[in-house]
Amino acid sequence: MKAAILKSVENLELEEVPEPKPGPGELVIQVKACAVCGTDVKVYHHGHKHIVFPRITGHEVSGVVIKCGAGVTNYQPGDRVIVAPAIPCGQCHYCRRGYQTMCDQLKAIGYHYDGGFAEEMKVPAAAVANGCVNHIPQGVSFTEATLAEPLACVINGQKLSQVGLGDTVLILGAGPIGCLHAQLARAVGAGQVILAEVLPERLKMAEFTGAILVDLSREDIVEKVKQLTAGRMAERVIVAATSHQAQEKAVELVAKRGSVNFFGGLPKEKPVINLNSNLVHYGEFMIVGTHGSAPRDNELAIGLIARKDITAKAYLTSILPLEQIHEALHLAEIRQGLKVVVTPSNSDQGESNDG
Ligand SMILES: [Zn+2]
Ligand SMILES: [Zn+2]
Repeated sequence: MKAAILKSVENLELEEVPEPKPGPGELVIQVKACAVCGTDVKVYHHGHKHIVFPRITGHEVSGVVIKCGAGVTNYQPGDRVIVAPAIPCGQCHYCRRGYQTMCDQLKAIGYHYDGGFAEEMKVPAAAVANGCVNHIPQGVSFTEATLAEPLACVINGQKLSQVGLGDTVLILGAGPIGCLHAQLARAVGAGQVILAEVLPERLKMAEFTGAILVDLSREDIVEKVKQLTAGRMAERVIVAATSHQAQEKAVELVAKRGSVNFFGGLPKEKPVINLNSNLVHYGEFMIVGTHGSAPRDNELAIGLIARKDITAKAYLTSILPLEQIHEALHLAEIRQGLKVVVTPSNSDQGESNDG
């Protein structure tokens, strides 16, 4: 089979490699679509502490089960599935408390295991056993289904942020993650949903979310949110950008007893921010951070996509064959459009006729 092999930092080659064979409890899927994540670009340039080269990356994967290992009973060849990449152990203190994203032994597809930038991908037994493989409902295409992975992370974030009925939700950053946050907030019954962004062309692309759009290059965000909330500010603020400035600003934008989520991480060489601690003290709001998702979040995500609460198609701005993996990473890096999807098995170019 053909696979994009990351041999070392910035050394990615398309090669013919042996087809994976499923061991006991494992599955092999034919990869129909694998979306490019910001972290794929990061890993390409800088590697990752959990990646030993050579490695096939890509973790936003959908496909068809083609082989089942001994003992697999819940899946069969022909099943259309998505695979949640983060595999909790199911045994540790955190897993047993239900905090699977905090698992002590967390392993991930595309990092510890080979991922989806290949024609076929093996799904580890622990992933099969712990609920990481979910069926794709009818009417959802393979390319649309790849959105379940980032959406699952957004669901995990809004759960911890306690986004709820009637809340004013402010999202800083209108990339794919910011747009998912906006659509999810609307789907769960938030009141006003405000999406703010510095790049006017990105903001224009976010119109489909139905959020109130704020152009940060022209408008003062504190004044704007004051105006929209009669001075109370936003109950939920989500920072969906890698920005020190946005994190520092977020604490000025949140309502009393609300919450701020540092959803986007900061560069590891510069993770420190200046925070006005008294705002937290007197405002009694929570500051949380989230990353990743649990298998259950993935299941919820594909359901929201099937119901069109999340309009997956609106995010899929580039669909490319595996041969154009370099171009795909490049488009994601220069942030052209929203999501770039690679289709290794070529039979799905984003049409809805595959499901
Ligand atoms: Zn991702
Ligand atoms: Zn665990």
